[in-house]
Amino acid sequence: MTVLDRIAAYAAELTELRHDFHAHPELGFEETRTAGIVAEKLKGWGIEVHPGIGGTGVVGVLQGRSGEGRRIALRADMDALPMDERTNLPYRSRNEGRFHGCGHDGHTTMLLGAARYLAETRDFDGTAIFVFQPAEEGLGGARAMIADKLFERFPCDEIYGLHNAPDLPRNQISVFPGPAMAGADFFDIRIQGRGAHGAMPHLANDPVIIATTIAQALQSVASRNVDPLKSVVVSITQIHAGSAYNVIPDEAVLAGTVRAFDDSVRELVRRRIKEISAGIASAYGAEAEVDIRDIFTVLENDETPVQAVADVARDVVGAERLSTSPRPKMASEDFADMLKAVPGAYFNLGMATDVPVHNPGYLFDDDILPVGASMFARIVETRSASSNS
Ligand SMILES: [Zn+2]
Ligand SMILES: [Zn+2]
Repeated sequence: MTVLDRIAAYAAELTELRHDFHAHPELGFEETRTAGIVAEKLKGWGIEVHPGIGGTGVVGVLQGRSGEGRRIALRADMDALPMDERTNLPYRSRNEGRFHGCGHDGHTTMLLGAARYLAETRDFDGTAIFVFQPAEEGLGGARAMIADKLFERFPCDEIYGLHNAPDLPRNQISVFPGPAMAGADFFDIRIQGRGAHGAMPHLANDPVIIATTIAQALQSVASRNVDPLKSVVVSITQIHAGSAYNVIPDEAVLAGTVRAFDDSVRELVRRRIKEISAGIASAYGAEAEVDIRDIFTVLENDETPVQAVADVARDVVGAERLSTSPRPKMASEDFADMLKAVPGAYFNLGMATDVPVHNPGYLFDDDILPVGASMFARIVETRSASSNS
């Protein structure tokens, strides 16, 4: 019986579990219900459980048959997004303003599926380490686990993670070495003007005009400052000002995100955002306060673990469903911080539904649950043998 066959035998239970997580989504660092179910399931299968790592994170440790061999970590994220779900699924979100719109409910379920299989079969040497991470969606869950000494308490030789991919065909695995996902900053620009009656602009220093001028000018960073051969995104995603039709507000705030693969580009963009904001504000006799924060590290896959994922993919989904050509994404992923600490690889798994992640109508394809679980399980079986070191 193949791994996939064995895990497929309890696919219905995995689907039921995923629907339960989906109906009860929790935001980053608030995943107490989810983490509680994860811990209880792991315990039930005889896996050693360490809750409360980096806040609401959970780590499971399972020894293989022999005491020797390598330590292979697998990671899944558990958090949902602060948005409403717009689907008519019977198991749609019961928590208003909370939605598993990135499929982390599916990732958590896949890792549980792999943990159950590995606990039941123990057909591996070394140690399997299951890392259930909180707060992936821009809140720094990976960094919180690392700061809580994740890799000192649970040393591992390699680490692997995956994401569902609505933009790939079902069961297609995409993995390649090198930079795969962009690094990201989040920024806030606070413009302090002077408020007045909407009919008396000469008595005001209108922060709305300054904010819209800065918003336009920031688009020149990508087009005029950064080397055209280097990828960069500067997106303003929030504009906040005012509360009445006849009041010029005191203050306006712009917020957004920067994406790039190159640290020197990130540094240049940070400097230009500050210079442009300060220069324009000053030209209008106002001040702009700029706060730019490094949120995501560039995600870089290591060569040998990528080969390992590719070998497992040939086995689990077939060579015809494996893509190793580079397809870097401007999106970011905080698993990048774990990959900075430990060699490993992050791969994408395609599914039949094609609504993009973070869309209110996003749908997860339950048919990929056993496939993702099998990928994780086979990675441990193939990489934990001591001959791989
Ligand atoms: Zn997401
Ligand atoms: Zn995600």
